[in-house]
Amino acid sequence: MNAEIITIGTELLLGEIVDTNAVTIARRLRSIGLDLHYMTTVGDNLDRIAQAVAQAQERAAVIITTGGLGPTVDDVTREAIAQATGRRLVLHPELLAQIEAFFARLQRPMSPNNRRQAYIPEGALPIPNPVGTAPGFIVETTRGAIIALPGVPREMEYLMEHAVLPYLRERFHLHGIIKVRILRTVGIGESEIDARIADLMTSTNPTVGLAAHAGQTDVRITAKAATQEEADRLLATMVARVRQRLGDVIYGEGEETVEEVVHRLLTMRGWRVAYAGEEVDLVSRLTAVGTPLQVDIRPHTVTDKASAQAEAHRLREHTAADVVLVVSTTPDGHTYIVAVAPTGERVLHVPYTAAESAYRERWISNLALDALRRLALAP
Ligand code: ATP
Repeated sequence: MNAEIITIGTELLLGEIVDTNAVTIARRLRSIGLDLHYMTTVGDNLDRIAQAVAQAQERAAVIITTGGLGPTVDDVTREAIAQATGRRLVLHPELLAQIEAFFARLQRPMSPNNRRQAYIPEGALPIPNPVGTAPGFIVETTRGAIIALPGVPREMEYLMEHAVLPYLRERFHLHGIIKVRILRTVGIGESEIDARIADLMTSTNPTVGLAAHAGQTDVRITAKAATQEEADRLLATMVARVRQRLGDVIYGEGEETVEEVVHRLLTMRGWRVAYAGEEVDLVSRLTAVGTPLQVDIRPHTVTDKASAQAEAHRLREHTAADVVLVVSTTPDGHTYIVAVAPTGERVLHVPYTAAESAYRERWISNLALDALRRLALAP
């Protein structure tokens, strides 16, 4: 049993609006354990929408469309689904009455165009829309269902929650759930992680996937099961295996950030930190989570690794802080990160790259935070 989402609207293809509907629907489908295999976006064009629906019917049991149910001539989703399923559009008197009542409630005149919205493919189940004028509908097919929802996010979400999810659960006996745990790593490349857990990444349930950011990689573990307990058990087993392989490169889990973890460790140690070097977002990230920092911004003062280390030791002698951190880039673009703490010293080198500067800055900050983290964890 799998699903496909078709979002309809030329505005989406022009990049004028972001397709938040697809994301919302994807999350809701995941929550009821219905697998999503495709997301398609198509403009307000009758033939292309019909074609997209026909193609989706070949590969998905449940098709959910959003958009194109409005009253105007460029709202052609009704016609397209009728065409793709070989049905006529017929007036649904109850829907018409509801649309009339909606306008009466708002004391607004109803335009003749709004009558269009009461037409749905013959035999379709109407989904009345109490929060707007565009009703949705469900065409039941031999393989599953085609469900048409309005494009306005608030209306779509309301109908999804109150009509579509209950319908899908009951019709397709969906009692499964999907749960996710995210292990967060820092200071190690995606390829290195891949090398250590490649075999686990071929598992089908739970699945294990990677998402790489600057100097930070997430390991996402997703389990599908009939009950919460079963999903939790599957996740716990896989999390333990991944943790065993990756060890202390995992800094945390879930929504935890590296700076939050570093802040907690520094507080536990009772360490005060002095920073000297160039302006990197490390300083604002640590300050934002409440770490008091002694900061001395002085760009480009080092020429190589030895001079970066010397600078860190000089700083250590002239400050009352327990930990000193120096981040400095040489004139030829090599960055050195030196952290000195009562438990030891860490020196990291980030070679020159043509990487976008915001990416590089984030990468350097993550490595520097990781150096503090490791020194705070050290005996
Ligand atoms: P209505 O008759 O209520 O306008 P509709 O089904 O005709 O509904 P559209 O005209 O396609 O919907 O879209 C209405 C508005 O909803 C769009 O202008 C846009 O702001 C928003 N919208 C449409 N599709 C999406 C989407 N996929 N993601 C986010 N917003 C969307």
